[in-house]
Amino acid sequence: GLTSPKYRRVILKASGEALMGSQGFGIDVSVVDRIAADIAEARELGVEVGVVIGGGNIFRGVAVASKGGDRVTGDHMGMLGTVINSLALRTSLVKIGVDAVVLSAIAMPELCESFSQRQATAYMNEGKVVIFAGGTGNPFFTTDSAAALRAAEIGADALFKGTQVDGVYSADPRKVKDAVRYDRITHDQVMRDNLGVMDAAAIALARENNIPIIVFSIHEKGGFGAILRGEGLCTVVGD
Ligand code: UDP
Repeated sequence: GLTSPKYRRVILKASGEALMGSQGFGIDVSVVDRIAADIAEARELGVEVGVVIGGGNIFRGVAVASKGGDRVTGDHMGMLGTVINSLALRTSLVKIGVDAVVLSAIAMPELCESFSQRQATAYMNEGKVVIFAGGTGNPFFTTDSAAALRAAEIGADALFKGTQVDGVYSADPRKVKDAVRYDRITHDQVMRDNLGVMDAAAIALARENNIPIIVFSIHEKGGFGAILRGEGLCTVVGD
């Protein structure tokens, strides 16, 4: 019910592309505002929320590597993109009165605080929304892996993965007409069938730490809160 959501502390992962809206690049502030409103609703339910945002709307490391450039530098550029997105989300949250802080895996003290597990946990205990910027801080990783890592570090009850569709399907429902949607599926099955929920490193980390992954549509206004209340469409990846 309303007074006792199933999850007390969660990580929300949104891809950078989710922030683009209908644009081909960058940030659509109205979309960021909507995601901020969804986070505010989760806070009103009493759920502690940490957020990891991708950077794909700005830059991906492989884009440099595929043109013969240095992958590590490309990944640094990608991680910087996640900081831009994180600052955008903080702005949208603060605008509507939600106390939010950005902690970056890459130190840039003029812009935001640096990540430490201790500080992140302290802020979450205070009820602040903690936005984890800079991915894992390491090249060759993704923000999906960062989301699984932060979920483990802060002791999250679940990792909410916002995607383009409302759950995990046997095939891409936008391409395959009779694709089957799962209500529940195990981490093992997702990995075995290569269902593309998150990259393998992220799923393995979530599995190892018994963190369920809740796959839902990031484009559904109020969808995050609905699932936290036990309503709304999603797939639970877990045992
Ligand atoms: N990245 C990285 N290490 C991390 C997280 C991200 O090097 O721990 C870089 C990588 O180049 C990646 C880019 O940042 O392509 C953007 O992140 P991601 O692709 O995960 O964003 P999303 O697809 O969620 O928008």
